[in-house]
Amino acid sequence: MTTHGPTDHPAGFAGQHITVAGLGVSGISAARALAGLGAHVTVVDGGDGDKQRAAARELTAEGITVRLGDGDTLPEGTELVVTSPGWKPDSPLFAAAAAAGVDVVGDVEIAWRLRGPGAAAWLGVTGTNGKTTTVRMLASILAAEGLRTLAVGNIGTPIIDVVLGQGKDGEPPYDVLAVELSSYQLHWAPSLRAHSGAVLNLAPDHLDWHGSMQAYAADKGRIYEGNTVACVYNAADKATEDLVREADVEEGCRAIGFTLGTPGPSQLGVVDGILVDRAFVENRQQQAQELAEVSDVTPPAPHNIANALAAAALARAFGVRPTAVRDGLRAFHPDAHRIEHVADLDGVTYIDDSKATNTHAAEASLAAYEHIVWIAGGLAKGATFDELVQKSAARLRGVVLIGADRALIAEALARHAPDVPVVDLDRTDTGAMPEAVREAARLARPGDTVLLAPACASMDMFVNYNKRGDAFAEAVGELTARDH
Ligand code: ADP
Repeated sequence: MTTHGPTDHPAGFAGQHITVAGLGVSGISAARALAGLGAHVTVVDGGDGDKQRAAARELTAEGITVRLGDGDTLPEGTELVVTSPGWKPDSPLFAAAAAAGVDVVGDVEIAWRLRGPGAAAWLGVTGTNGKTTTVRMLASILAAEGLRTLAVGNIGTPIIDVVLGQGKDGEPPYDVLAVELSSYQLHWAPSLRAHSGAVLNLAPDHLDWHGSMQAYAADKGRIYEGNTVACVYNAADKATEDLVREADVEEGCRAIGFTLGTPGPSQLGVVDGILVDRAFVENRQQQAQELAEVSDVTPPAPHNIANALAAAALARAFGVRPTAVRDGLRAFHPDAHRIEHVADLDGVTYIDDSKATNTHAAEASLAAYEHIVWIAGGLAKGATFDELVQKSAARLRGVVLIGADRALIAEALARHAPDVPVVDLDRTDTGAMPEAVREAARLARPGDTVLLAPACASMDMFVNYNKRGDAFAEAVGELTARDH
């Protein structure tokens, strides 16, 4: 960890010729915000469908130029490119920008540059899994402290709009923002300097976008750049600690670990069912401060306790009192499709963890149950399944496979769990879910858990993971006694 002095972030977008890559939610929000600040904005998108045309008509009426059907060529005179998250770093548009000496940044960078003097501090959260949960826990804790705050991330108001909306309409400005930061956003946010940041965990994901695990980790590690109070890492995941060591932070910034075990000095951890802080206390060599009980966290699964500890660490770094940590955790309830209890039927529990879109998340939920009929499959995004199957094999009563890349999981099961019965549904249409659930119900015995934790993305069969989870819940609802 090296330290340096503060930096300024002048915005100055007025009069600039800015190209926005992508006509999606984040691109449209960026284009409108920048045009509103007096920039000359052109939005480019390789698509040219009905949806894009409708959006283009609206933006054009607002004085924004839109070019459809060509996302590769850099518009003449571009001074800055603002990209959407889906665009890969090796996109031809960015190669053209690099050749022309033009910077490419994302929505987070724009939001960061737009912060005025005295703007709310940012507490940043990244990691392969648990970001949304942790950011929402953190916002709940900050609110319990009486601070004006907002959880900002993949859902809700786009981050640029949050920053631009600060203090408008007579509303008092935010004191602090709990900001979820994806590896894509961090990649394109070179001047971001959060008050404190946390990397929850690091496992291979989105490698097709980043190119390598090393590049993915390096992008996640950017969250620590310029931190002023705390770089929060996962003591059980050495890669996150390594990233702290490599970071360039402000004088006095500390490395703070979280652990599910007894915490050492400068760590938060768990002792006899109590979440304790041994980092932000006066005498940390000898003392620990009680924050909350494990039972204050919903659900109290190990990975979720880790999320709570990370949220608590960031809140404590911001000066939040221990009682507010407890109250905020008690007030927090997880979003849908994250280890969501759907039903108990004939002694079998049905759990929807559709949000387990990668192997690391699926591993966490498979570890939370003893006997499981696992429904898995979808788009693998370059992942391999050997480790996941090896670690979970002893818990598997059976497996039902759906989706485009199910063969990859079937092969891993054949290698590491040859005795576990596998039903390969060999279909990728939406209607596969009721059949999958019926097959799972057939394999399950009383006391078992049928767990939808696909370890894959959903877009081969569903619009998104929400719809996949809804389809699961609906199919469970349709189960009759005959199916058991
Ligand atoms: P993200 O915003 O990073 O995608 P979410 O909070 O939405 O994270 O959770 C995504 C998935 O990861 C869920 O399926 C959840 O069960 C699992 N998960 C949540 N926290 C963790 C964690 N700390 N470690 C591993 N898996 C986790």
